[in-house]
Amino acid sequence: MPFPNWGENLEGQGMLREAVAQLERAAGLLGLDPNLADRLRHPKRALVVTVPVRMDDGRVVSYTGYRVHHNITLGPGKGGIRYAPTVSLEETTALAMWMTWKCALMNIPFGGAKGGVCCDTLSMSRREIQALTRRYTSEIVMLIGPEKDIPAPDMYTNEQTMSWIMDTYSMQMGYSVPGVVTGKPVVVGGSLGRREATGLGLCNLIFAALDRLKIDPQGTTAVVQGFGNVGSVTALTLWHDKVRVIGVSDVYGGAHNSGGIDIEAMVRHVRAGGKVGEFPGATPVSNRELLEIPCDILAPCATDGQITKENAPRIRCRVLAEGANGPTTLEADEILRGKGVFIIPDILGNAGGVTASYFEWVQDTQKYFWDIGEINQQLERIILRAFQQVMALAAEKKVSHRMAALMIGISRVAEAMRFRGLYP
Ligand code: NAD
Repeated sequence: MPFPNWGENLEGQGMLREAVAQLERAAGLLGLDPNLADRLRHPKRALVVTVPVRMDDGRVVSYTGYRVHHNITLGPGKGGIRYAPTVSLEETTALAMWMTWKCALMNIPFGGAKGGVCCDTLSMSRREIQALTRRYTSEIVMLIGPEKDIPAPDMYTNEQTMSWIMDTYSMQMGYSVPGVVTGKPVVVGGSLGRREATGLGLCNLIFAALDRLKIDPQGTTAVVQGFGNVGSVTALTLWHDKVRVIGVSDVYGGAHNSGGIDIEAMVRHVRAGGKVGEFPGATPVSNRELLEIPCDILAPCATDGQITKENAPRIRCRVLAEGANGPTTLEADEILRGKGVFIIPDILGNAGGVTASYFEWVQDTQKYFWDIGEINQQLERIILRAFQQVMALAAEKKVSHRMAALMIGISRVAEAMRFRGLYP
């Protein structure tokens, strides 16, 4: 089995098909030069690496890792690192493409990149994950750097993973290079507010959407799929703002209580190692059932491909707020739009993370750190500016919010490419 999972991951292929279908539709609506549209279908470069790790039982397991630069016209590559059994070249390429459009939509000077290792960290020890991270970093070291490509956390990676990457890179350089990754702990050059920024940005957008729909947030109900970084902060922020959070889930299943779930208690329960579905005082539900619970705000914050043409007809929410990347297929998007659902598409919905990562990179570069008030104020300003631009274009061109967001991102990249010209 020399290349486990390489090119055979059907989920990853589905994601790339979805990302390319989105690009083609948006390019058609923009009347984009076919030469540029074709160029944007392809990543700039992709590195596939083997990551051998000595396990605690003495075996050496060879994992496959990836780092993809989709487009770096606007600045250094930016994008998370994912550790999951679904990770493949296709999945990583799709996620890198979405990063390109997301950074352009937010008007921040980064290109789109993504990385990952195909592995199951839930069955690995901390020592094994550290060994995997350090070896993976060494294997991709020629692609990353503060001026080249700056990784960040994604599924099953976190502040600790980023610290190991920063340390490994710094050891190779011979001095500390905090700007090589974002999403680090504050003590090693991270930014205040970065950990919460994706969920907080999503909540800023949810409240802006409710405002447009003239719905008072107090007393509305919410269901959040995924209780990791993005999902838990989203659920907690909504709960603090008096939204009744009636359902949450993790990879094992969900918890439902129509009277509302105490999210602070749920955070404590999960931190102590509990599963969401085992939370006392709520009824266990499957992830499929969770998505179909009637609510005002549905926030998929776990993974891709969750809302498809199969379950979209049964989904009953007023606002779909996408924290995850690629949770909704284009077919499902049309079904939900037909039902009048207000959609906050992923490249806008979860862009708070990359926006705060940009702040972290700026602070690391300038060696000058901001206070939390300034960070959250700038985050809200940038994300709401993008929201208004998406709303205005959707109304002007009579297109979906998703198409409007993609059109803004893609047209900015395309314009920069036209000005820079084709090398040589
Ligand atoms: P995480 O690893 O912290 O949490 C993931 C959560 O989803 C966990 O609760 C996990 O149990 C659950 N989960 C995983 N697979 C699932 C499945 N098949 N069904 C239901 N639940 C499942 O990851 P995260 O950083 O919160 O990322 C979640 C999503 O948000 C991903 O799609 C990621 O790409 C996207 N995202 C994250 C950030 C960030 O700043 N962390 C930024 C932008 C986008």
